[in-house]
Amino acid sequence: MDLGIDGRSALVTGASAGLGLASAQALAAEGVRVVMVSRTKERIEAAAASVPNAVPLVADITDPAAVGVLLDEADEVLGGVDILIANGGGPPPGTFASTDLDAYQGALELNLLPFIAMSKRLIPPMQERGWGRVVAITSIAVREPIDVLILSNTARAGLTGFLKTTATEVASDGVTVNSVQPGLHLTDRLRGVDFDPEAAAKGVPANEIGDPDDFGKVVTFVCSDAAKYITGASIPVDGGLAKGLQ
Ligand code: NAP
Repeated sequence: MDLGIDGRSALVTGASAGLGLASAQALAAEGVRVVMVSRTKERIEAAAASVPNAVPLVADITDPAAVGVLLDEADEVLGGVDILIANGGGPPPGTFASTDLDAYQGALELNLLPFIAMSKRLIPPMQERGWGRVVAITSIAVREPIDVLILSNTARAGLTGFLKTTATEVASDGVTVNSVQPGLHLTDRLRGVDFDPEAAAKGVPANEIGDPDDFGKVVTFVCSDAAKYITGASIPVDGGLAKGLQ
């Protein structure tokens, strides 16, 4: 299938590893010109080397000034950003009892505010051009909150409300705004914790842990021309893990 995005341009944050990197690779495979971003020069340069024609940039998305500079640089490199894949790390685990009030600020600065800042800057030019795609990588925890991830549950639910509201406002200008919700995918984030893939797979109806490459392809389809009628959606990619109807 021709996804119709050959020659488009994309900014992918959180792109040195995992789901962000897989999304950048899948977009590039469709002929999209990609700017890839993470906090670490060595990591993002190494990742960009695996993506045809990708340009690596360094920025910490929790720093509003750095995000401003990043957006200027991305605009210059790409001559306008058609596609934003908004992604970054996850906040630390914790419960209601174990999580201090101050920690919520950090979670909002990582998983909500930079996504809003990038949308505020990039969506108006997309509207002017009559074509744009915004995809945020969130979590299945938005659909079914995970007990020990109160920061993620809270910040990403807020982000999802922002995306839904924005999607409605810009839909008639050819801009779609969606989120894709990972379940369990074998990335550094999971490798970094005490995670047993075989045991975890038993709790997933599909009986396997997600492949980041498949996830990147789903993100890329949501950016396609054919997906122009998908907007305001929160799409689970979780092997059936979330059991609710919505
Ligand atoms: P990952 O393997 O840990 O990769 C995270 C990426 O974000 C890396 O490229 C990291 O690069 C970058 N990053 C982290 N903090 C950043 C910051 N402040 N500014 C810019 N870049 C930053 O994570 P992942 O598994 O791909 O997950 C991606 C997102 O999906 C995360 O928010 C995660 O919580 C969420 N999620 C993942 C799963 C899963 O099963 N994997 C499930 C649910 C939700 P540098 O270190 O080089 O900056």
